[in-house]
Amino acid sequence: MNRNDAEKKVKELSELLQKYSDAYYLYDNPIVSDYEFDMLMQELKALEAEYPELVLPTSPTQRVGGYAMNTFEKVEHAVQMASLQDVFSFDEVRSFVEKCVATLDSPEFSVEPKIDGLSVSLEYENGELVRASTRGDGFVGENVTANIRTIRTIPEKLRNAPQFLEVRGEVYMPLSSFSELTEQQELNGETPFKNPRNAAAGSLRQKDSKVTAKRKLDMFVFNVQQVRGVEFASHTESLDYLKKLGFKTVPDYKCCKKYEEIEAEIIRIGQSRAEFSFDIDGAVVKVNDLEQRKTMGETAKTPKWAVAYKYPPEEKETKLLDIEVNVGRTGAITPVAVFEPILLAGTSVSRAVLHNQSFIDEKDIRIGDTIVVRKAGEIIPEVLRSVAHAEDSVPFRLPEVCPVCGTPSVRDEGESVLRCPNGQCPAQLLKNLIHFASRNAMNIDGLGEANMKLFVDKELVKSPADLYSLEKEQISVLEGFGERSAEKLIAAIDASKNAELDRLVFALGIRNIGQKAATLLCEKFGDMDSILSADVEDISSIESFGDIMAESVVTALREEHNLELIARLRDAGVNMTYTKKSTGDNRFAGVTFVLTGTLPTMKRDDAKALIESFGGKVSGSVSKKTGYVVAGEEAGSKLTKAQELGVRIISEEELLEMTKQEG
Ligand code: NAD
Repeated sequence: MNRNDAEKKVKELSELLQKYSDAYYLYDNPIVSDYEFDMLMQELKALEAEYPELVLPTSPTQRVGGYAMNTFEKVEHAVQMASLQDVFSFDEVRSFVEKCVATLDSPEFSVEPKIDGLSVSLEYENGELVRASTRGDGFVGENVTANIRTIRTIPEKLRNAPQFLEVRGEVYMPLSSFSELTEQQELNGETPFKNPRNAAAGSLRQKDSKVTAKRKLDMFVFNVQQVRGVEFASHTESLDYLKKLGFKTVPDYKCCKKYEEIEAEIIRIGQSRAEFSFDIDGAVVKVNDLEQRKTMGETAKTPKWAVAYKYPPEEKETKLLDIEVNVGRTGAITPVAVFEPILLAGTSVSRAVLHNQSFIDEKDIRIGDTIVVRKAGEIIPEVLRSVAHAEDSVPFRLPEVCPVCGTPSVRDEGESVLRCPNGQCPAQLLKNLIHFASRNAMNIDGLGEANMKLFVDKELVKSPADLYSLEKEQISVLEGFGERSAEKLIAAIDASKNAELDRLVFALGIRNIGQKAATLLCEKFGDMDSILSADVEDISSIESFGDIMAESVVTALREEHNLELIARLRDAGVNMTYTKKSTGDNRFAGVTFVLTGTLPTMKRDDAKALIESFGGKVSGSVSKKTGYVVAGEEAGSKLTKAQELGVRIISEEELLEMTKQEG
């Protein structure tokens, strides 16, 4: 590359990195993965190394990426809160270690997990927490003391404390808090945070501390920034001291001397990744002796006595077989990549959402391409990029009309998603019907996707209410049915008339109203008529209901077609009152259960309902905070994880026993 091109490229990369940093730091809503960001930064660093005269003091390579927003009072850091030099290969770790060994007298290194959260400083005067601040740009951060005080593991007062102490650590969101928050945000119809790091940053930088308190953040302390009244010779000595003072210090660190030990330790931490109850994004290797650190010195942005090794996300290449265009229940038109199955993060994946036309254009994804797919942790698979087009391939364009009913598609203002505006679109109708009969809604056995499609195609069913007037004779003549199976299906439809009211409310498919919200509505109002006559204010008084959810309910239940549907369902004899009784016994309050494997007699849903009726919670993932794992046959990784973490494992029988014991 000649100098002119290099200059252009440096400018382009700097602007792009700035744009991505804004999304990440200002809005806690990244638009590219960390890995993509890191690779662009590497590209910029390499160019700047080749043309040092192009390095501007404002370059993203020269500055810590964050900002101090005006929402908070600004705090000037007495000791800079620097970043870390990232490395992506063991060769780079080795050359860092070799440089230290050449400069220092037999240095020791601390190797520790790099917690994926946000950096915070805590200041204590005579043992009392007086101020907490974010890193910001490293020199000026934001005063978040009130919010930090809501984190229970951070000591407010230290016993036998030095005169003054400033420590630095990482505030993070435990994975269990993240899944709880995501669930709640989905329930509220809000867009969930993309990952626990952004959730932690978004939650700590809230104006209202009550919101932060609900988010259940935590903190690991990993450094003494300043201290008066005690002295330490090494980093690990200071960590031991902080632990004694009552801080939760960075876990699982190890002192190593030889390069081979360091590499082995980085690998070990990487392999334990899945077992941590928090996200990590690397391992940090630090010179342990504090005097030796001074000898190594620092750059404007990072210390020279440490490096952060970043683990590569698991990603694989596969072939894009097709791009399906789906029409959802609400008319949203979504392109979905269908590719040759690959094993990622322990599961087989063959599909990934491609979001919208601009996502496809930006990555120039075409049918037949070799694509790279990634699954970060437990998160949904995503197509990262296309690495090669097939011969004769053409750019992919989403159809301008609904692929099912042919109505011209529309784009709501400010939204990137295309929508089919036809309320009678068979795709929407079919999806709504499938949702109505699904397991968590009216739970009609034998009425899955295929049969429902058959009924819609034969024009036997145009509304969920039509299901209740189906006759055996209409069904038995259809392909795949006989007398017996038709009878069985009619019986199942009939049985669904007695479903609990919360199932019906969920089955109506009201926007922003999931299963849990439907139950809360029924608990509050008791019957359909009361729900129908409730206004926004009544509904938003339900704890954990926001205005958007309340408005969704009121809007949907004022719509003519929904009122007509409810009236027809009522005439057909469908239950309109809520009869589920809470046991009034909250013996499982505060206890989280995880269900895994096939239980001998109970369905998962029934076990969940049982636990909830005693005030317990059921979660999808095992962490140290899990109270019990209820394991059935063929229990898999959750059981292994519970064993490793020492979580109590019980059988269905033991669970039932626990509900029967005296209070
Ligand atoms: P960094 O996250 O790579 O490393 C520095 C941070 O590590 C420190 O601030 C510190 O708080 C933290 N840390 C965690 N555990 C630690 C431990 N045990 N010891 C010492 N420090 C520890 O660097 P950064 O400057 O904070 O952020 C840059 C990174 O943020 C990028 O590498 C990228 O991955 C991510 N980022 C992503 C986007 C995006 O769009 N996806 C945008 C901007 C930044």
